[in-house]
Amino acid sequence: MQAVLDALGAAAARPGKVLVLTGAGVSAESGIPTFRGKEGYWTIGAREYHPQELATYEAFRTMPWNVWAWYLYRRGVCRRAEPNAAHRALVRLAAALPDRFALVTQNVDGLHRRAGSPDAQTFPIHGDITLARCADDCTLDRFPVPDGVPELGKGEEVSEETKALLVCPRCGGMARPHVLWFDESYDEPRFHLDTVRRLAMQAAVLVVAGTSAQTNLPWQVVTLAARAGAVIVDVNVEDNPFGDIAASSGGVVRAPAATVMDRLVEAIYIRPATG
Ligand code: NAD
Repeated sequence: MQAVLDALGAAAARPGKVLVLTGAGVSAESGIPTFRGKEGYWTIGAREYHPQELATYEAFRTMPWNVWAWYLYRRGVCRRAEPNAAHRALVRLAAALPDRFALVTQNVDGLHRRAGSPDAQTFPIHGDITLARCADDCTLDRFPVPDGVPELGKGEEVSEETKALLVCPRCGGMARPHVLWFDESYDEPRFHLDTVRRLAMQAAVLVVAGTSAQTNLPWQVVTLAARAGAVIVDVNVEDNPFGDIAASSGGVVRAPAATVMDRLVEAIYIRPATG
């Protein structure tokens, strides 16, 4: 651990951006299941679906109300969860490095925002489960899931009253969750693609925490940051491909994010910033 802290401190003393990339593991200790374990599965009829089958445009196209039911259940899980020590540590880092720090998150749970991470420094690249948008893309605008829409329990179906609320306020067509599905592409207006790539190209430090490296833009962030000469650290309870990259850079921390993020961010921000 000390070698990782030293590497972070030395890298943070150099000019360049300080980036943290978070995934579902950072919210695991807040009680929100990742997509990896048994808890992530969802039953529809007689079949169990893996999240990677359900979090797709194809699933929404063929069974939109089953997919909505899954999201309305998960929305309740996220609303009841509280930010943990990792979320709070990243708020302190944002305040300490207002011009250099950016938080890139794959999490759709809104816990970084609720902990107090400023919007100007936070880039949710997979959307936000509390928001919806037009399923026909009549506009790029997002809107909050309407107040009258209930959170659902496991196995509950979307009622006709709720279906009537889940509509685009502009065209009246069906609304969809504002999330990036596995068979969809990143863009700048909705998912900060260009901004995040630019930040990665300027990175002096990149801490990756709680992600299994299954999605494309995180790979680009890590690859571009490595090419820019950033010191990369991976925080995860398990081995993963980003850990392999970090092992030959700043190092690997095999621990729950909430137990170590404090020390990692302090190693970065108690150093004098020069860039
Ligand atoms: P993932 O579920 O694929 O992987 C989670 C990773 O976190 C694993 O590598 C696991 O080993 C690690 N992990 C588990 N507990 C941890 C802990 N306490 N500390 C550190 N690491 C821990 O998640 P992903 O890589 O973020 O990608 C999955 C996709 O699912 C993303 O698109 C994301 O938007 C979505 N997702 C989001 C949430 C959320 O918003 N909380 C939850 C589940 C899935």
